[in-house]
Amino acid sequence: MRVDDPKLKRLEPPKLTLADKFYLPRIAEGLGVTARHIGGVMFGHKAITVQYPEEQHVPSSNYRGVHRLNKDEQGRVKCVACMLCATACPAHCIDIVGASAPPSWPDREKYPESFIIDELRCIYCGMCEEACPVEAIELTGLYDLTGLSREQMIFDKAKLLSVFDTTRDQEPLRYGRPPADHSPETKILLS
Ligand code: SF4
Ligand code: SF4
Repeated sequence: MRVDDPKLKRLEPPKLTLADKFYLPRIAEGLGVTARHIGGVMFGHKAITVQYPEEQHVPSSNYRGVHRLNKDEQGRVKCVACMLCATACPAHCIDIVGASAPPSWPDREKYPESFIIDELRCIYCGMCEEACPVEAIELTGLYDLTGLSREQMIFDKAKLLSVFDTTRDQEPLRYGRPPADHSPETKILLS
């Protein structure tokens, strides 16, 4: 489009009052929100914060937390090593090494010999989940990831499959993800 194109719509900057120039309406709005929350806490409404870890935060149903690699009915990894998730990942944090599937797996040509996700590089966008044609990779509602080193936050295939074992009862995750299971077992797994 050229600068003198008649279809070009030119917008004028909005006219600001003196109060707008000093951000007074926005400051008053912000103070109002703060006052509402203080009043809510003082007069018995539910507090916004939780006393973690004694109280557990329940994330929303569309929360995207740590990944899991799903297994099929026969307990095999569902992934067929098509690399679509790694290609779609904007953070380049998925590394897959594919190999020929064993002869006893006639329903596929390949499987992931190695499957690694760097959970520290991940931005939890869910593109991998969207890209997967066989629903092999999903993001769970687990959020309390801890690790003593960067290496511990690089999840290999065994760890990703173990997240599936821990969250198996929460299926299906894709539509209306149920709240995370924050049982002690889950926390040990991720720490
Ligand atoms: S959630 Fe996004 S950033 Fe994380 S592994 Fe999947 S595609 Fe990559
Ligand atoms: S998880 Fe899904 S998208 Fe990623 S390689 Fe495996 S089958 Fe392909």
